[in-house]
Amino acid sequence: MKYVDEFRSETLARDLAATIAREADPGRSYAIMEFCGGHTHAIFRYGVQDLMPGNVSFVHGPGCPVCVLPIPRLDNAIEIAERHKAILLTYGDMMRVPASKRRSLLKAKAGGADVRMVYSVADALKVARANPERQVVFFAIGFETTTPPTAVALLTAEREGLANFSVFCNHVLTPSAMQQILDVPGQSIAIDAFLGPSHVSSVIGSAPYERFARDFHKPVVIAGFEPLDVMYSALMAIRQLNEGRAEVENQYTRVVTREGNLKAQAMVAEVFELRDSFEWRGLGAVPGSALRLRERFRAFDAETRFALTPSTGTDVKGCECPAILRGQKKPLDCKLFGTVCTPDNPVGSCMVSSEGACAAYWSYRRHQ
Ligand code: SF4
Repeated sequence: MKYVDEFRSETLARDLAATIAREADPGRSYAIMEFCGGHTHAIFRYGVQDLMPGNVSFVHGPGCPVCVLPIPRLDNAIEIAERHKAILLTYGDMMRVPASKRRSLLKAKAGGADVRMVYSVADALKVARANPERQVVFFAIGFETTTPPTAVALLTAEREGLANFSVFCNHVLTPSAMQQILDVPGQSIAIDAFLGPSHVSSVIGSAPYERFARDFHKPVVIAGFEPLDVMYSALMAIRQLNEGRAEVENQYTRVVTREGNLKAQAMVAEVFELRDSFEWRGLGAVPGSALRLRERFRAFDAETRFALTPSTGTDVKGCECPAILRGQKKPLDCKLFGTVCTPDNPVGSCMVSSEGACAAYWSYRRHQ
């Protein structure tokens, strides 16, 4: 398959591994945070960490939108379906994420709430058109990649006057999370460089990461999701560190530009505005890190339409998701991993999502 097979070549991977081993300075270590869960899965699926010399390690970041959504927002989603009797539509992964008291949207559905899985927000609009007598709410989550389709849906709903449709908006922003990771006091793992998001960067471009290179002197390499993409990006980061450089470099040039998708950015700016602050699982309240609907679209805002009860739900005792999402711990540091917590019986969000670090460890390293 073009653009896939050539980025999975074992021969090229071994050549790249030899180059990395030759160029990595044995007198120092290299901690490279891969921001995205997609990178984490590529690293474990293809054994990329095992191809690195001992002084080059990958630190898993918070780049999984399902994982970082805090429990109070999940509680509110369940409330929309149960107390307000709306049809709640969301992506598959969200259905199984544990909320307060080990509840979930799937359990709410089993109890009679009308929770449905959709593959896109366009499907949510179809449900709203087909059920004019019901309130229909799209539980929107995701980084900058999934925000433009939600913007299109809201513009469509406005144009059609779809009065029974609303959005429970949980769209969050990648650069703010990266900033928070660098600002977190007591960060136990010093991060030397970042592998930047690829799909997100196809929308926002690589320019928003330039401040991390400039202000924090951290190299950022925008990396594709195939194993050779990840390995070559690691080599680019190692070369920057060896040369004392801190720049944004773009390994994923086949998709990402410095400016990104200007049309998508304009649509997002028309529909959404910045929240002052938003709570992230693991990172706490992060200033300017999420979006809400602009005043013009307030009639489609589920948070305005329904009086939602503030929730004080917290993570399950013993679940290390918050520390994992900050890059401070790894899944095998969690005592619940593989015993109490498995994909069939997830205790935390990192074991549910296909982009979660615990799910990656379970799928590819559970024997260790
Ligand atoms: Fe949380 Fe389960 Fe991961 Fe432990 S293994 S950190 S309980 S998701």
